[in-house]
Amino acid sequence: MLELSTIPDLRAWTTSQRKAGRRIGLVPTMGYLHEGHLALVDQARRQAQAVILSIFVNPLQFGPGEDLARYPRDLVRDRGLAGGRGVDALFLPAVEAMYPTGSEIRVTPGSTAERWEGAARPGHFTGVLTVVAKLFHLVQPDLAYFGQKDIQQLTLIRRMVRDLDWPIELVAVPTVREADGLALSSRNAYLTPDDRTRAVVLSRALRAAHHAFCEGERRADRLEARMRQQLSAEPSVKVEYIAIVEPEGLAPVATVDAGTILAIAARVGSTRLIDNISLAQGLG
Ligand code: AMP
Repeated sequence: MLELSTIPDLRAWTTSQRKAGRRIGLVPTMGYLHEGHLALVDQARRQAQAVILSIFVNPLQFGPGEDLARYPRDLVRDRGLAGGRGVDALFLPAVEAMYPTGSEIRVTPGSTAERWEGAARPGHFTGVLTVVAKLFHLVQPDLAYFGQKDIQQLTLIRRMVRDLDWPIELVAVPTVREADGLALSSRNAYLTPDDRTRAVVLSRALRAAHHAFCEGERRADRLEARMRQQLSAEPSVKVEYIAIVEPEGLAPVATVDAGTILAIAARVGSTRLIDNISLAQGLG
């Protein structure tokens, strides 16, 4: 597995892969890899002949009071996991390589970024779209892999690629979960043992709403009530929002169907967690 940390080295590698006729699959991450990230790699391995995984904790997508400084990192472990799953190249840029002094142009998302995560984390999606736009231009992948776990991020990147006519095929990968239902996340590392026990209530609420949908419930307000009932079993888990939305622009719906997305953001102790399902898939 090759390690690239400068933009010229990255460009040389992508050029050589294209010349060899290989399709390039890009998996962008912030590292501290887990089986969710590795599911993206596995999918990339099936579809692309050259798989590149980027690890970059993007300062632009963290707000002032957020966890940039303490975001978990373990490059030695990440190397082993990525190599073990057949990644061909790791891209590990320094912050100064991605944002040299004087860099100021940003990608502005549209109204889809104003609600849910965008409302809770002002500027977050400007940071996400800017770094993803840069990675797309640097790597020029044929395919790029994103998790459904970050559903609003996925929706916005899909829109960016469509609105700006970039010839990149986006592949959405279902959320990988622990045995009890908790969605894997690098931020789960922050959970105390008690928090970890409580955190399962997010997926339990989604499961309960999915069950109600399968039994015939179509009213969004009743699904939300079902979720809140589950969440109230853990009063220390502070719900930030419950979104019951259509998949294109994540606008709220009153009546649900199989395409509807159910999303939750909540604080478990000091850790902010998000999770979602589509009613077609449930917890998977
Ligand atoms: P992150 O390192 O948290 O920025 O995540 C990098 C990519 O992995 C994003 O596309 C995420 O949506 C995806 N991802 C994170 N957690 C999971 C998970 N549990 N299952 C599937 N994909 C995930």
